[in-house]
Amino acid sequence: MLHVPVAASSAIKQTKGDFEDKFRQLEETLPTPNVYRNAAGAPGHQYWQQEVDYKIDVKLNEEKRRIEASEQITYKNNSPDTLKYLWIQLDQNKYREDSMSALTTTFGGIGNRGPATQSASSDAPARLSMGALRRQQFVEDTELGYDIKKVATGNGKKLHHVIVGTLMRVDLDKPLKAGQQTSLNIDFAFNIVEEDAVSARAGYEHFPDDEREGGNDIFLLAQWFPRLAAYTDYEAWTNKEFIGRGEFTLEFGDYDVNITVPADHIVSSTGTLQNPKDVLTKTQRDRLKKAENADRAVFVVTAEEALENEKAGTSKTKTWRFKAKNIRDFAWASSRKFMWDARGFKQENEDNPLVMAMSFYPKEGGDLWKKYSTESVIHTLDVYNRFTFDYPYPTAQSVNGPVGGMEYPMISFNGPRTELQDDGSRTYSLAEKRFLIGVVIHEVGHNYFPMIVNSDERQWTWMDEGLNSFLDGVAGREWDPNIPWGVEPRDVVWYMKSSSQVPIMTQSDSVLHLGPNAYTKPAVALNILRETILGRELFDFAFREYAQRWMFKRPTPADFFRTMEEASGVDLDWFWRGWFYSTDHVDIAIDRVYKLRLDTEDPDIDLKRQREAEMEKPMSLTVERNEQEGRQLWVERFDDIKDFYDDNDQYTPNNKDRNKYRDFLKDLEPWERKAFERAVREDKNYYVMEFSNKGGLVMPIILELEFADGTKEMKRIPAEIWRRTPKAVSKLIVTEKDKELVSVAVDPRWETADVDVENNYYPRRIIPSRIEAYKSEKSSKRVYKDLMQESKTELKTDDDDSDSDDD
Ligand SMILES: [Zn+2]
Repeated sequence: MLHVPVAASSAIKQTKGDFEDKFRQLEETLPTPNVYRNAAGAPGHQYWQQEVDYKIDVKLNEEKRRIEASEQITYKNNSPDTLKYLWIQLDQNKYREDSMSALTTTFGGIGNRGPATQSASSDAPARLSMGALRRQQFVEDTELGYDIKKVATGNGKKLHHVIVGTLMRVDLDKPLKAGQQTSLNIDFAFNIVEEDAVSARAGYEHFPDDEREGGNDIFLLAQWFPRLAAYTDYEAWTNKEFIGRGEFTLEFGDYDVNITVPADHIVSSTGTLQNPKDVLTKTQRDRLKKAENADRAVFVVTAEEALENEKAGTSKTKTWRFKAKNIRDFAWASSRKFMWDARGFKQENEDNPLVMAMSFYPKEGGDLWKKYSTESVIHTLDVYNRFTFDYPYPTAQSVNGPVGGMEYPMISFNGPRTELQDDGSRTYSLAEKRFLIGVVIHEVGHNYFPMIVNSDERQWTWMDEGLNSFLDGVAGREWDPNIPWGVEPRDVVWYMKSSSQVPIMTQSDSVLHLGPNAYTKPAVALNILRETILGRELFDFAFREYAQRWMFKRPTPADFFRTMEEASGVDLDWFWRGWFYSTDHVDIAIDRVYKLRLDTEDPDIDLKRQREAEMEKPMSLTVERNEQEGRQLWVERFDDIKDFYDDNDQYTPNNKDRNKYRDFLKDLEPWERKAFERAVREDKNYYVMEFSNKGGLVMPIILELEFADGTKEMKRIPAEIWRRTPKAVSKLIVTEKDKELVSVAVDPRWETADVDVENNYYPRRIIPSRIEAYKSEKSSKRVYKDLMQESKTELKTDDDDSDSDDD
């Protein structure tokens, strides 16, 4: 019999009221499967989506920094429904002073310290950043938002329309039935925002120091044309106001876009250039051709040529024509400052064997861009293809501009740059290098999610940012594992234990900390799913299956959850529940370890062992000191008063015990006796380990057992161990007689994002940390101004500035 200690059995307490089923099936929460999306997480047999094609003529007015354009939209209604009106997204209206975005911006956030209160100990003034002041002034001085000049049918008949914030409802002249198509013409214009002033996803950046009189600009154009809102089987019109953070829900379609810009500009754009002869020189066209088979990027426009361009300027224009098939959006960039390099990426794909990886950047990008931008683009395609599908588009571009990082089909905007030094050279920091490689991988990676696997970004940021951050972490660690890519389990620990968080499944505009919530936490979750829970083989198969099922289609979270389970064959409902639907964190503690020894039931053995155990207990201090003082016991002094009990106690075996042992053996069934005798013979070590789940999130228990002989062994216990008692579990671990356990570590490789690793050790260990000595300062120095002394200060003039160091 094993004597299970009382404490071990009572640790698992669970009362009626506090039981929470961490393994409850998610089907109760997910939408019911239907003919459009099935229970396997795949598109259903009647899956549909709309198609919207665009023909656009757009003119960039460089001087006014204004866009003038007209678009013809062809809308194909593939839904089973009749539509009386169409909803169109007018994202530029977000910058209007009366927009929901502007009106609901709160005060007191990051960079804006709120007003000091009466009770506060500090009377420091509230803070408003210089950036916030600049933004206010820019919005005040510039008329922003769309000027919608015309909305008409393809035949020119005007259509009634109503603008609602960043959306416009266009009432069709007759209802559009299932299977029908209609066309619309919209003429529009808007003033481009200055990116540095308003911090948008696109805009212009001004370079006042360029040699050209008045300087030059880089123009990044995105969310620039009225785009159809998506009409879906799960939400009908996805007409949720654009507040700024929740990105886009869009339809696929074909584009044909004429972009008219100053003749000395270079244009980077979604799509394939249709008229290279009109806009590129013979030399440039030859270089582009050569780049297709080059080992390293070839300059189509060199640094010297770009520098020459940026000196002059022209009043002439050129029209660049781009076409693209099956894309969900269209963006472009234009500047006379751009140099342009390119290199072909070959893939074994009959339909699309060659992808042109290209980069566009000003001299400010310098060597950092020359070396790493196009190479990073190619690395991205290489790695992402392995995890998803072959890249289906003809180009993949990285453009340097004022936006830190933003993605569109075939084109991305990336911010890192070099620093101009006093000696005229340009250098970059290690951080800038890491930022450039990381951001290019990330933004180019967005081609896969959400540009091709077209998830609804406005609602579920994690579906594109989380999946993409997971993959950019894979690609990043294949580039250089020493760069911190932020997708290791340890990278999310601080966030998961913080109190200001919401579940990953929260709509993006309501998320408190978008970075950790929509990027890091889901990326780490997938990392853990791949390396720790499913293993690479099951995970990679299921993930690729998801990507291929939903390529050029519109998945929802349920489709992802269901596909990952269905294709891996593993029930992951507990994982989605814990990581995506709750704010629980991982903190598994090992509280106690008991060593149990199997009783032989033989009184001559067991009682001896019990006596030995008794002897190991520390002696009473009083008894010990009495002995030291030489105090003799009464029986020692008077031998004649001794009796039987002075030589026999409860640990002395007698024949009654021996007979009982005989009867015990006789009563055993033959198989029982065989099993018992073998167990006694082997005399294994039985360890009962008690674990508690302090964070709430159930996870596998990963154990490293260290034995007295110096060997170690890993044990991986699936999360399902918590299914009946999610707060505490005990586990019996049996080892061979010579494998005596000396210590246990839970999650020794930090695989599970356990927020407190100190309770992962048994026995507990001393925590290494650091301390720093410091010199105390006199507080009076900081608080009181010496007005008597300060009044003697001389007034500085501008002339002083050149030679003063200032303070
Ligand atoms: Zn992103």
